[in-house]
Amino acid sequence: MQTIIEPQKKISVIAEADVCVLGGSCTGVFAAVRAARLGMRVVLIERLNRLGGVATAGLVNIWHTLQDMDDREQIIAGLTDEVITVLNARGALTVKNNRSSTYNFNPMELTIILDEMIREHGIRLMLHTYYSAVVAEDGRLDAVIVENQDGRGAVRAKFFIDATGDGYVCRDLGIEQYVSDYIQPPTACFNLQGNIAGSDLKGIWKEHGAEFGLTDDWGWSARVAGLSGITMRADMHIFDVRCDRAEDLTRAEMEGRRQARAMLSLLQKYGDPEENYAITNLCSSLGLRETVHYRTRMQAKEIALLTGERYDAPILKGTYPIDIHHHGDGGITIKYLDGTRRTKWGKGTRTEISNWREEMGLSGESAKYYQIPFDVLVGERYENFIAAGRMLNADAGAYGALRVMVNLNQLGEAAGVAAALCCEYNTSLQSLDGRLVSETLRKGGSAV
Ligand SMILES: Cc1cc2nc3c(=O)[nH]c(=O)nc-3n(C[C@H](O)[C@H](O)[C@H](O)COP(=O)(O)OP(=O)(O)OC[C@H]3O[C@@H](n4cnc5c(N)ncnc54)[C@H](O)[C@@H]3O)c2cc1C
Repeated sequence: MQTIIEPQKKISVIAEADVCVLGGSCTGVFAAVRAARLGMRVVLIERLNRLGGVATAGLVNIWHTLQDMDDREQIIAGLTDEVITVLNARGALTVKNNRSSTYNFNPMELTIILDEMIREHGIRLMLHTYYSAVVAEDGRLDAVIVENQDGRGAVRAKFFIDATGDGYVCRDLGIEQYVSDYIQPPTACFNLQGNIAGSDLKGIWKEHGAEFGLTDDWGWSARVAGLSGITMRADMHIFDVRCDRAEDLTRAEMEGRRQARAMLSLLQKYGDPEENYAITNLCSSLGLRETVHYRTRMQAKEIALLTGERYDAPILKGTYPIDIHHHGDGGITIKYLDGTRRTKWGKGTRTEISNWREEMGLSGESAKYYQIPFDVLVGERYENFIAAGRMLNADAGAYGALRVMVNLNQLGEAAGVAAALCCEYNTSLQSLDGRLVSETLRKGGSAV
């Protein structure tokens, strides 16, 4: 590959803060809000025109249950619960007694609520602003370089949080990166107008899908709260792509839109002739389930989650099962804390059920929820830097459970609290007592 030297350039410092958060999904916003509530001056950088990440730009509109496995104890609270309350009050939420899709929300309303949270907490937000480089020396970050309409500028802060999902700051800091043996494939979500119920989607997909280049694939859909006749469709995957690579990402975005059109064509030709099927919204950012991970002090492990291991300094509680979308055979395997393992392939073509607890010879009560300790977020090399989001240090199984938003939201809150505590006590991330993070999270409304 040919190379050129980029000329050195003096860059203006366009913002200074206590805490700078890169990436404005709920993970990043919740980190920013928690830090602001602890008295920090916060800057939040987001490359798109809106906050919310996969939940808004990706159209993924489901949050899972906040309850333990018995539905007796609320194990997730904090900002997730606060946002649910506001969504509900605005008629932008459908609540179901269903562990795998408890809250269906309206992504447009979520976008507006996140804007309001930013205003209410006096956070300086920069939209259409792209993180592009980091300035660090001797284990400390001094600034990040961002780009927007004004050109390149530096943002200085005492502490930095990488909530970009892909861990771009981690990458630029040279933190050890790894990919799972089992990277979960992406899906391009879209909103569809028209009632599918009367059209035997599974049947027509099986019989005529190939005519439109649609393979037999497992997928799901969800009503968009507050909108009648509109569903969010996530019926397909894009296989054989590595979306941490620019060329693959471009190919995947285009393939996702091709799939959406193919499904619409299938319905228009073979679906209910009375229905006016149409695509009403395409995701403005492909739904990435997984790209790369970065090492920290401790890796979250599947076995610890499944057996409900407990910690001194928990920052997250959850019940979402280990949910792994297969690479290429249109299947999905889900392992629940109660022992059930269910694998499904295609549009209802085949299901297998087994029990992982019996296979492991486990007896006694199963865990009612799992925990994650603070150490999972603590990197070893940079004293004023933390990463939270799907770049999480987790083995394939643990990642399959932790990757959903009710969990990543909690990681964001923990990152914001940790950043604020490091600033307040003038200490490094590595010396911060995780128990203080847990305690501060609880005082701020979390159920950890
Ligand atoms: C198809 C699909 C279905 C899913 N279904 C569910 C579900 O039903 N329920 C659920 O809870 N979870 C679901 N998930 C998982 C979940 O949505 C994601 O794992 C989660 O949203 C990832 O959150 P994140 O904050 O790490 O990343 P993201 O949501 O990707 O947020 C990263 C943010 O950082 C910004 N950013 C990135 N790079 C830069 C940069 N250089 N400069 C500035 N900003 C930047 C992005 O624009 C984005 O706003 C699903 C995921 C997919 C893909």
